[in-house]
Amino acid sequence: MCPAPRRGNRMCPMNTTALAPPETRLLIDGRRALGEGPPETIVDPATGRCIASVPEATGEQLEGAVAAAVGAFERWSRTTPAQRAGLLLQIAAHLDAEADAYAQLESLNTGKPLEAMRKDEMPAIADVFRFFAGAARLQSAPAAAEYVRGYTSLIRRDPVGVVGSIAPWNYPLMMAAWKLAPALAAGNTVVLKPSEQTPLTALKLAGALAELLPNGVANIVCGRGDTVGAPLVAHPSVRMVSLTGDVSTGQKVLAAAAGNLKRTHLELGGKAPVIICADADLAAVASAIRVLGFYNAGQDCTAACRLYVAAQAYDRVVADVTQAASSLNVGSPTSSGVDMGPVISAEQRRRVAGFIERAAAARHLSITTGGRARAGEGFFYEPTVIAGARQDDEIVRREIFGPVVTLTPFTDIEQAIRWANDSEYGLASSVWTRDIGTAMRVAARLQYGCTWINTHGILAREMPHGGCKRSGYGKDLSVYALEDYTVPRHVMVKLD
Ligand code: NAD
Repeated sequence: MCPAPRRGNRMCPMNTTALAPPETRLLIDGRRALGEGPPETIVDPATGRCIASVPEATGEQLEGAVAAAVGAFERWSRTTPAQRAGLLLQIAAHLDAEADAYAQLESLNTGKPLEAMRKDEMPAIADVFRFFAGAARLQSAPAAAEYVRGYTSLIRRDPVGVVGSIAPWNYPLMMAAWKLAPALAAGNTVVLKPSEQTPLTALKLAGALAELLPNGVANIVCGRGDTVGAPLVAHPSVRMVSLTGDVSTGQKVLAAAAGNLKRTHLELGGKAPVIICADADLAAVASAIRVLGFYNAGQDCTAACRLYVAAQAYDRVVADVTQAASSLNVGSPTSSGVDMGPVISAEQRRRVAGFIERAAAARHLSITTGGRARAGEGFFYEPTVIAGARQDDEIVRREIFGPVVTLTPFTDIEQAIRWANDSEYGLASSVWTRDIGTAMRVAARLQYGCTWINTHGILAREMPHGGCKRSGYGKDLSVYALEDYTVPRHVMVKLD
């Protein structure tokens, strides 16, 4: 680990990467400026080395960002949807043109395999801006009509105002896109705070936002949750807060937003159940879990991590999933053919290891592969499969956010549905069967924002992503996100 860098240092002394020094300046009112608060050390999780130092925003700088967003709102909210769409398309074009540089920076800051970043994430991120560019021009509402005789009613969908957006560390640029694109498309102005651990791609994007958008429309401030996030949430001029993060952070944000009744958009944790029926294509199950149980080192709120398997198929699925997980190529994010990199930090690895140590102490559980941190540099943890899990085990109930999959046998489908729904979380789920009737019946009863049938974890920009229960209620992507970032307003005209 590198020593704490000095306040205001652009680069920390142990940087060893061949990449250009990362951008560390904030974006406030169209201008780039270093934060004037304490520096945050940004670490490469694959080596544990320092890659940059990002000083956080002071209270004064945060005030400046909110004031800029307030100042820009009047003009931005009155631009036409076509004008906003044109600018969002330019942001998408910038992301395409610089895709490789973004992929390298994100991979360096998060430990994501570079190939996956290039192939999976960058095209999807640019397309988020494209989708909302189109959607902004095609909002829908009930037809204008004389619902009361002598009066014409029509619906407007107007922007909310200044949006404070707060992002997590697991998909930093993707989350920035999910938050910026619908909010800007709808005519809001934004102050975005990336995670203090992974601000580098958002700060690179800030350069394009400064060039393309009018001053103050999008502002980016960095810092920790308690010093920068909480004051952003509490700010009286911020009309809406959008958070993707932990359930406990959502609770804090909600309590703070109650002060002035802000609109909130919460996307919180998950613990996705995967119901595998005896008639499922078991080879397809194992290859899907290999990818979607361990994608992003399992640090994914939709990760296919809580498997319920029909008793008749259980032994085979345990063997296949164990084999699949142990075949994952874990290593340096920049090596070719790598399936999984490190987890985000030493602290996250300790947290994952804690769950596994407690599980190992329970006699009924067996760790069929993994269960260990990797020796050497970086925060690697082996892909881990735990069989014999019971519904009330901690490892089944709590979000681990690491490369860990559990398997639990069930005797009938009613039991599987009951266990799947018996969770604080409600984000994502899947059911695997060749019987379409069973699939549809189970899908109808699962209390999750999304249910996949014979697949898992595939997102479409046109479809909503978001949860129920403690996973929150904000919808990202799709026209539902645009609805979340707008206020439906009734305008009525007296005719005579
Ligand atoms: P986190 O809640 O610790 O932090 C998220 C963001 O909130 C960070 O920017 C942090 O600085 C900020 N924050 C922390 N305390 C705050 C406060 N009091 N006020 C305002 N802001 C505050 O989450 P994380 O560890 O960065 O990310 C992991 C979590 O995010 C997991 O629980 C995961 O399931 C969840 N997540 C959910 C989704 C989804 O779509 N539902 C997507 C990705 C991640």
